[in-house]
Amino acid sequence: MLRQYELVDRVRRYNPHTDEDLLNRAYVYAMRAHGQQKRASGDLYFTHPLEVAAILTELRLDDATIVAAVLHDTIEDTGATKAEIDSLFGPEIGQLVDGLTKLKKLDLVSKRAAQAENFRKLLLAISEDVRVLLVKLADRLHNMRTLHYVSAEKRARIAEETLDIYAPLAGRMGMQTLRDELENLSFRYLMPEAFAMVSTRLEDLRETNRELIRTIEEELAHELGLQGIEAEVRGRQKQPYSVWSKMERKSLAFEQLSDIFGFRVVVSDVDECYRVIGVVHTKWPMVPGRFKDYISTPKQNDYRSIHTTVVGPGRQRVELQVRTREMHDIARFGIAAHALYKDGRDAPAPVLSQESNAYQWLKRTIDMLAEGSSPEEFLEHTRLELFHDQVFCFTPKGRLIALPRGATPIDFAYAVHTSVGNSAVGAKINGRLAPLLAPLNNGDEVEIVRAEGQTPPAAWEAIAVTGKARAAIRRATRDAVRAQYAGLGRQIVLRAFERAGKKFSEDKLRPALPRLARSSIEDVLAAVGRGEMFSGDVVKAVYPDFKEERKAPAPDRSDPGWFRMQKAYGVEFKSPGGATAGADALPIRGLQGDLPVTFAPNGAVPGDRIVGIMTPGEGITVYPIQSPALAAFDDQPERWLDVRWDVEDAQALFPARIVVAAINEPGSLGAVASLIGEQGGNIDDVTFNKKSPDFRQMTFDIQVFDLKHLNDILTRIRVLPMVHSVERVIG
Ligand code: MN
Repeated sequence: MLRQYELVDRVRRYNPHTDEDLLNRAYVYAMRAHGQQKRASGDLYFTHPLEVAAILTELRLDDATIVAAVLHDTIEDTGATKAEIDSLFGPEIGQLVDGLTKLKKLDLVSKRAAQAENFRKLLLAISEDVRVLLVKLADRLHNMRTLHYVSAEKRARIAEETLDIYAPLAGRMGMQTLRDELENLSFRYLMPEAFAMVSTRLEDLRETNRELIRTIEEELAHELGLQGIEAEVRGRQKQPYSVWSKMERKSLAFEQLSDIFGFRVVVSDVDECYRVIGVVHTKWPMVPGRFKDYISTPKQNDYRSIHTTVVGPGRQRVELQVRTREMHDIARFGIAAHALYKDGRDAPAPVLSQESNAYQWLKRTIDMLAEGSSPEEFLEHTRLELFHDQVFCFTPKGRLIALPRGATPIDFAYAVHTSVGNSAVGAKINGRLAPLLAPLNNGDEVEIVRAEGQTPPAAWEAIAVTGKARAAIRRATRDAVRAQYAGLGRQIVLRAFERAGKKFSEDKLRPALPRLARSSIEDVLAAVGRGEMFSGDVVKAVYPDFKEERKAPAPDRSDPGWFRMQKAYGVEFKSPGGATAGADALPIRGLQGDLPVTFAPNGAVPGDRIVGIMTPGEGITVYPIQSPALAAFDDQPERWLDVRWDVEDAQALFPARIVVAAINEPGSLGAVASLIGEQGGNIDDVTFNKKSPDFRQMTFDIQVFDLKHLNDILTRIRVLPMVHSVERVIG
């Protein structure tokens, strides 16, 4: 346990003017208040607030924050009151402890709505004094560090909440060191095997490259020294969680991550940063497209540095971050560092810089709260922002529109109003005409060019990134699509009547509507166009005596593929002749009627964007949208059906094919196979395609629940040391 004098020492090291008496009184007060209370670990409870305070001394925070940390659980867990703390330690500290107490009551609710409400209250408490957030983050960090003592269920919940909210929040505030540790701890508790695999591989890599890193460090420092630049050069390695999430996000193998190692060059001023870049680029060839100047344009969370990659000593690609000492502190401590630089090093100031981007973000987010969106909506919104770093754009009248990164003027238009989106035909960004598909940047002023009587193209749905835009586009295109299908259906019906030697007229069809169980002629035509109804049935409804000679071929039920399909999906597919339950048992919306439905070879899994291709007289084949086979139907848009997955909690398994290239060594097949099994995937079949002395390629036909499940399996396989690459194959 941290002793009283140790706490004072830690603070005095960075703040010689610390109020020792205040620290001592807080220490004794909290120790008495918590008494013999114990933590889940069996330790005295009092060790917890002390550790939280210790974490904050590493951020070199002011006395009020440190004292608030020592006292942060007293009101909630002991007999202490706000009035008592006010009178003993002053209202500033009383206010901080009170804010933390309000948050403490909110911890650990599992319901989503309650979580959203919590987050809202967290931000409101922060808005009163941002130091509340610093203590809260340190509190969460210590709880994460000691998480193995609590029950497995509680552990998962806390780790998830940390990954969802606290880690991104720390990142948004620029507190990278804290964020890394929160993420790595959550990762370790949520996915222990994945964490172990990534960590082991990082460790191996560190061992292998130890010499090389030292050489590069020395050579860089030497070269800079020759130019009279005194620089601190350090090799650094990526964190396990950031490696994992990058592999997952970009579908990369461990070996493909080029930036696991980097070097950081810290110099004394901005001029020197640019001089370093000059020296490095003169000495070693730079890799094009990798130079980023975050000094002239800081990141949203105030991060500043220059990034570049060169082909350095030993022809190694070397990533460099060049920054000043101050920038380095800000990169590690974020808003906490701003506090420090307010009045210079010696006297930490309690007030955070109002000009900092992080502070501005907090303020905007809190303002948005005041606008009164529902807590769930707010959480969804904020979560998106925390993860993807939003863009803020403006209408010509200056209204702020916040959108997720990657949003286009289409999203902007729908965010302003649905009617604006539906009538959008063009956009002006910062006064200049721009395509509706152009990604928006922060600060863009966007004007939407409108024309009434427009229907948004259905393709926009795939381009839009906001749910609001997508839903509106779907709604608006539905009617237009229906009209298209009706037009197609009319042609099909006309031909069918022709073949039958009969004449088609709407007047004759109208009395037959009840027989077709449709309420309008357009309904019938659209149903035929969609392939939900046979044109022959329409002829028969009008001319009941008519006999169609040509029968659609029934699928060959002796075809083993047919039965395998039935087994795999657990449903019976309809054949054109059969009348039993069928297509509607498939977890796909947009299909009804008499057509048999099959999946393209190698399958589609829920989560894939899918389309149905109608083959008249045969049925509908469902393809993932990225299937190369779809190119063959490009010029026949009338055969494309809009279909959608209809799976809630998927219990069924779906087939997917993956190809794994692995080192040819005993056990590589076994390792991949058992990993798939452990992850709850089924293996249908394995074939060996290529075998060279050192590599073998294996094709696995597996079954998974959905796309997330599949991606999870792929990423885990990718981490295996003997695996070179793994790809999904879509037919
Ligand atoms: Mn606590």
